[in-house]
Amino acid sequence: MATRWQQVGRGLADVVFPPVCVHCRGLVEDSPLRQVCATCAEQITVITDPRCMTCGHPFFGELEGERMCPHCADLAPAFREGRAIVLLKGPARALVHEFKYHHGLHVLEDMAVLFARSPGLAEWIDGATLVPVPLHARKERERGYNQSQLLAECLNRATGGRAEVCNLLRRLADTETQTHRDKRDRQANLKNAFALAEGVTISPGHQYLLIDDVFTTASTLNSCARVLRRAGGLNLDVITFGHG
Ligand SMILES: [Zn+2]
Ligand SMILES: [Zn+2]
Repeated sequence: MATRWQQVGRGLADVVFPPVCVHCRGLVEDSPLRQVCATCAEQITVITDPRCMTCGHPFFGELEGERMCPHCADLAPAFREGRAIVLLKGPARALVHEFKYHHGLHVLEDMAVLFARSPGLAEWIDGATLVPVPLHARKERERGYNQSQLLAECLNRATGGRAEVCNLLRRLADTETQTHRDKRDRQANLKNAFALAEGVTISPGHQYLLIDDVFTTASTLNSCARVLRRAGGLNLDVITFGHG
């Protein structure tokens, strides 16, 4: 909660530096979001049912019987259910980009609004442990923060603080910078990229939710899920902010 003085300060800052939309660079006025203008905010799709139970992408059109999801057909998930909050298009993609690559921590406030709009999310994570995907120590020093950890904390606050955020994993290998490698190479590398953090024990019946910014190939999330599963975790789910 912002204090009265923070609100006053923000009000003054908005007069001197009116907020500019992260997507279209227009002025932000009368918008439900702070860093996205009203027109762009309307274009952000918060994902609702029907959706893929594995990756969380929405199914469009008529729903008949079992649907194959083109976004995760190649995935053998080591987790149970995956949910995503928004479709990663246009303004939503701009929010994530700002957050990740421009030290845009101010967009977390908008992400919180979107987390709060995700149907059933608060109930789903009630009592769970939110586990951020860890960054390699060198990478975290470079960026100054782990975006997944900030997202996990933001998600927990936005849904009433009914879960807890714990860094149960550590990243052994710096796989993020290996973009020059081909897909198979990268996956082999990811296999042993994560381990349980020192002194962590996993309770089989407890719900653990891996948190990451976006769902793309999910190979990172899957590697993390395998570590928790090997340590005895049975109740493993995944939440990403964006999917597209
Ligand atoms: Zn805009
Ligand atoms: Zn899917």
